[in-house]
Amino acid sequence: MSPDPAAHHDPLDLEAFRRNAHALVDWVTDYLAGLEARPVREPVEPGDVRAKLPDRAPELAEPFDEVLADLDRVVVPGLAHWQHPGWFAFFPAQSSPPAVLGELAAAGIGVQGMLWSTSPAATEIESHVLDWLVDLLGVPQSWKTTASGGGVLQAGASTATHTAMVVARERCRERAGVTAEQMVAYTSNQAHSSLEKGARLTGFGHIRLLDVDSDLAARPEGLLEVITADRESGLTPAFVGSNVGTTGTAAVDPVRALGEIARREQMWHHVDAAYGGSAMICEEFRHHHDGLDLVDSYTFNPHKWLATNLECSVMWVADRRPLIDTLSVVPPYLRNPASESGQVIDYRDWHAPLGRPFRALKLWFVLRSFGAEGLRRMIRNHTAWARTLADRVDAHPRLERIAPVHFALVSLVHRDGDEATDSLAAAINSDGRFYVTASEVDGRRFLRVSVGSTWTTQHHVDALWEFIADHA
Ligand SMILES: *Cc1c(COP(=O)(O)O)cnc(C)c1O
Repeated sequence: MSPDPAAHHDPLDLEAFRRNAHALVDWVTDYLAGLEARPVREPVEPGDVRAKLPDRAPELAEPFDEVLADLDRVVVPGLAHWQHPGWFAFFPAQSSPPAVLGELAAAGIGVQGMLWSTSPAATEIESHVLDWLVDLLGVPQSWKTTASGGGVLQAGASTATHTAMVVARERCRERAGVTAEQMVAYTSNQAHSSLEKGARLTGFGHIRLLDVDSDLAARPEGLLEVITADRESGLTPAFVGSNVGTTGTAAVDPVRALGEIARREQMWHHVDAAYGGSAMICEEFRHHHDGLDLVDSYTFNPHKWLATNLECSVMWVADRRPLIDTLSVVPPYLRNPASESGQVIDYRDWHAPLGRPFRALKLWFVLRSFGAEGLRRMIRNHTAWARTLADRVDAHPRLERIAPVHFALVSLVHRDGDEATDSLAAAINSDGRFYVTASEVDGRRFLRVSVGSTWTTQHHVDALWEFIADHA
């Protein structure tokens, strides 16, 4: 009789798990160590990856060796390597060894922290680490869970912004007695698409995308003008989104001036600092944060630029009551003495999903393994290398920078025009060592160089510059 194959590949055999986990960690280590030798994006056509997969799911258990081998055969050839040191596209989606270990630990522990009582450590570590970040980023003390506000980890900044809009809608409904269709949301015309998407999901009748100044920052006078016009047409201002580091060019809106208008008009004031927020761990960037005392909610992404892998987006509120009042729905099976005591945080009331992974664990691992000092060094390196690149662009006769370098994003054009800019981007991206993004602002093509991969060094930025200078 042939032995039962499944018995040899018991997925619940813990000693096999130990061996397989070691093999996988070796694989991940070799993957990261080997990245520089690979093109940033693997050449792949639509359908290439699926063509390597069997038509049907396996009927019989397979040995883990075969599963692992398919990372090399199926997965890697179908990747854009976001952790590549030559990744200068979009914004980074950082990861780091401590984050990977935190993710593994969270998956292994496997708790679902919807309520404090369904895993107290998941809730309390999250609250505590986000209170640490209040001090590390120098945001208002009132945002701590030990004060009136508090932080929660969400899947992304888009979700955090959408959540803030829903709270804004409910508050406006209570205050002004109007329907969502009569409400208006305002933000810069440079804001991330998640502002527009969030407004649509929330059901706001209108979203106004404000004009920007020569630094691509929203103009407070422009906001006042549209509000006046909207009030005259019988609409109710409900929400303002300020941006600290827009996706296009990392522009920074005047948070204080927009916040003052928000206060006067009784609007909810949300800050999207998905990218720029991480830089605030270094004091020299905090002038971009002036006005946070006039902010109701704020989001930033450790999964962009704070060495923590997706999904890990911080949302802070200055006052947690309107958030919880909006989102708390208590069916009988979720009632429990701890919640009813009012002494604990139940994070299910802080966002749309019920079930939630232990996201704080990887962030905790990262903060402890890098130390604030290690993270500051990384941010200071990236921003310094970006400034050097910007200086070189400024000194080049055929290139022109089109936006201030507030953080580590350099936005440039070829002086010969859109076609020259696009072909420069295409040349960079076909080399294999680098990946940059070509985009458009004000009808003009431009090239974004975002310095921020965990593994990028000055040498990679220098190599990119040499290539640009040779091909411009
Ligand atoms: C990346 C980005 C977002 C979206 O973040 P997700 O976490 O992917 O939802 C929102 N706003 C800005 C400014 C961004 O750069």
